[in-house]
Amino acid sequence: MEHPLKIYNTLSRQKEQFIPANGVNTGMYVCGPTVYGDPHLGHARSAITFDILFRYLKYLGYNVRYVRNITDVGHLVHDADDGDDKISKQARLEQLEPMEVAQLYANRYHMFMNDLNLLPPSIEPLASGHIIEQIALTQEILDNGYAYVSEGSVYFDVEKYNASHPYGILSGRNIDDMLSATRELDGQDEKRRSIDFALWKKAKPEHIMRWPSPWSEGFPGWHCECTAMGRKYLGNRFDIHGGGMDLIFPHHECEIAQAVASQGSNPVRYWMHNNMITLNGQKMGKSLGNAITLAQFFNGEHPLLEQAYAPTTIRFFILQAHYRSTADFGNEALKASEKGLARLHDAWTSLNQLAPAAASSANISDIASGCAAAMNDDLNTPVLISHLFDAARIINSAKDGRTGLSADDLNELRRIFQSYFFDILGMNSSSEAPAREEAFGKALDLLLDLRRQAKESKDWATSDKIRNALAEAGFEIKDTKDGTEWKLT
Ligand code: ZN
Repeated sequence: MEHPLKIYNTLSRQKEQFIPANGVNTGMYVCGPTVYGDPHLGHARSAITFDILFRYLKYLGYNVRYVRNITDVGHLVHDADDGDDKISKQARLEQLEPMEVAQLYANRYHMFMNDLNLLPPSIEPLASGHIIEQIALTQEILDNGYAYVSEGSVYFDVEKYNASHPYGILSGRNIDDMLSATRELDGQDEKRRSIDFALWKKAKPEHIMRWPSPWSEGFPGWHCECTAMGRKYLGNRFDIHGGGMDLIFPHHECEIAQAVASQGSNPVRYWMHNNMITLNGQKMGKSLGNAITLAQFFNGEHPLLEQAYAPTTIRFFILQAHYRSTADFGNEALKASEKGLARLHDAWTSLNQLAPAAASSANISDIASGCAAAMNDDLNTPVLISHLFDAARIINSAKDGRTGLSADDLNELRRIFQSYFFDILGMNSSSEAPAREEAFGKALDLLLDLRRQAKESKDWATSDKIRNALAEAGFEIKDTKDGTEWKLT
């Protein structure tokens, strides 16, 4: 398959032409959420970034196996080797079983991702369902001499590994700098060096999530799951591994070390990372205490939000920034996205109503090639969107009768919108939802108008009938001096 898609590889620090190892078959692994709370804007950004990649690869004709995991065990508070398991901690707070917490927030994650019109991944493995694979991985690393057992836990020996393989190739960090930047161990610690990381942790007596292993009853270190599940479902070497930039170190650096130390080779050909969402220039995140959840965006109930925002607005806002740039959250930016999105939907509606002109006065082929070039340039969605706005201007000009569009032009514009706006940017669910809502509103207005007329002509039977039927259907009708208000109860 010949095409010029280029993606930025974090490992080589440059844009590279994407050439899958296995022809039309390709695989991508993306680090999914740790399910102990509602997803926030950062989760949405990562999920949407790789949804675009998934959609675009499929659009180009690849068979894509997309694996996105769910972390339900092993991810400790502060990403450290000591401390509480994030899910166990939440379980105590909510007085639930840890698996209840994981299930609850996995369900809610799926619900919100569905609202954002994400395609479901091909495989969505759970860390807790792959304990055997993670124990096997840990054993391989021990057998190869790159790990040691200490007090029932198993740690990766970073210094030993670094003697033969560079540790830090992904993040660009240097082991000496890392050693001097971290605290000296006081001799009480189980680890030999502060930069060593856990492959297996012996569970403390109060720790609920535990499994038997050759070393202790315990649980796997956080980094193990992605190495174990990535190679199980995509093979020892696969094309793309993605995630948020905050995962480059230590998570992805450790994944590379674990794979090399176990199977002897690098696991991934292209590493891709999306940038963060900022709030007044500061990183937004649950651990920083300034994260707004998607639920809050959708209902508008957060002190920083001036209104509620539809999921499609959030999706469009995220796509208006390139995935490797920061996206700065703000009400003004979100409202501008809302308007811009409405403009594109209106253009699509107009496009489908335009009659072809005999002669054409617009150059549509430039727009088509611009859209393709933007996507091939490391998924440059903001540039793609600017071409769609150009298309909208051409459509509006034809609608106003200033220019003409031939039948071929109209077809090509429809193809551009269908491919790029709906299929690749995934803005299609919104095209139906507002139209449905509009039709719904009009039907309700008509009923209320009929009821008003009935009341004016003192036809109380009809007016009560409408009111009662609406109440039965779940509407609360309130007459005010300005007219009639309604809400769904
Ligand atoms: Zn991961």
